[in-house]
Amino acid sequence: MHLNTFNLVVIGAGALGCAILENLGKIDLSSIKIVDGDIVSKDNLKNQALYSEDDARFLRYKSDAAKSALESKNSKTNFISEHFYVGELRIDGVIGGADMVIDATDNIRTRLIINDACSRRKIPFLFASLRGNNGLFCIVDWKYACFNCIYRNSKPKDAEDCSRISAHSAATAGKLISDGLIAFLERKTGQNLFTSFSVDPISIFAVRINQDERCETCSAHAYRHRLENGFIQMCGNGIKFSIQRPVDLGKLSQELKGGDFKDGRSALLYKDEEKTVFVSNMGDFLFTGYEKDEAKDFISGLFSSGALDV
Ligand SMILES: [Zn+2]
Repeated sequence: MHLNTFNLVVIGAGALGCAILENLGKIDLSSIKIVDGDIVSKDNLKNQALYSEDDARFLRYKSDAAKSALESKNSKTNFISEHFYVGELRIDGVIGGADMVIDATDNIRTRLIINDACSRRKIPFLFASLRGNNGLFCIVDWKYACFNCIYRNSKPKDAEDCSRISAHSAATAGKLISDGLIAFLERKTGQNLFTSFSVDPISIFAVRINQDERCETCSAHAYRHRLENGFIQMCGNGIKFSIQRPVDLGKLSQELKGGDFKDGRSALLYKDEEKTVFVSNMGDFLFTGYEKDEAKDFISGLFSSGALDV
């Protein structure tokens, strides 16, 4: 496989996703699709080098901001942005045509869904996480084992991991993971090696993972992973929820009796005193200042009013 015909999909453009994108954005791949439903916030600027103060001020989608930043440095790669959260209803559209998928979301439910979808299509899949100074990554090429083999007996957590990731940790992890991926592409080494590392001081430990014969994904091919509960508590006081299909923001704004449209109606920002709801036209909701139950009530209200009907 030549790099200049290689089509990569990167899901998650947070601290780790940005660092991986910075490295892989330079090597003249054919295309890189960036998928993330989040918008850039001021806090992100500390450890997510692709974003600017303007991106935060204008509430740009991370995928759009990352695409612009990467395009300004490399005109050979075709960068594609998709601003939504990935769930089981969307994943096949996201990974179609990909030669490799990277999951940098660090969300177990999402990871299991991506793992299932990549298994179905036999697309090589790299999953990566970073917590503080410690990280891990693994390239699954479907000959041996998968993410579900490792995690099938663990209970998915609802919340995202909120440990602080410094700019230094993210940059070092991004380089290690990108180097691992490039070595895999060039020499096909490193497949199904579960690599854990520490950033400060640098240490790397790799162990081959074996297939669990009872694995629902890579052994039984019974793909079972779903976003059972779409509400995800984010770091800080945010909650996200996705209905995984586009919504009519005009209809929604009438139902809510307000809200500011942004960027040619790609999103609606609704404010209720100190609380805000950011709704993208792709059907993702980002609640700030809401308790989880309040967010659930908000969504059920919209469903029962018909405002979310197609
Ligand atoms: Zn498996």
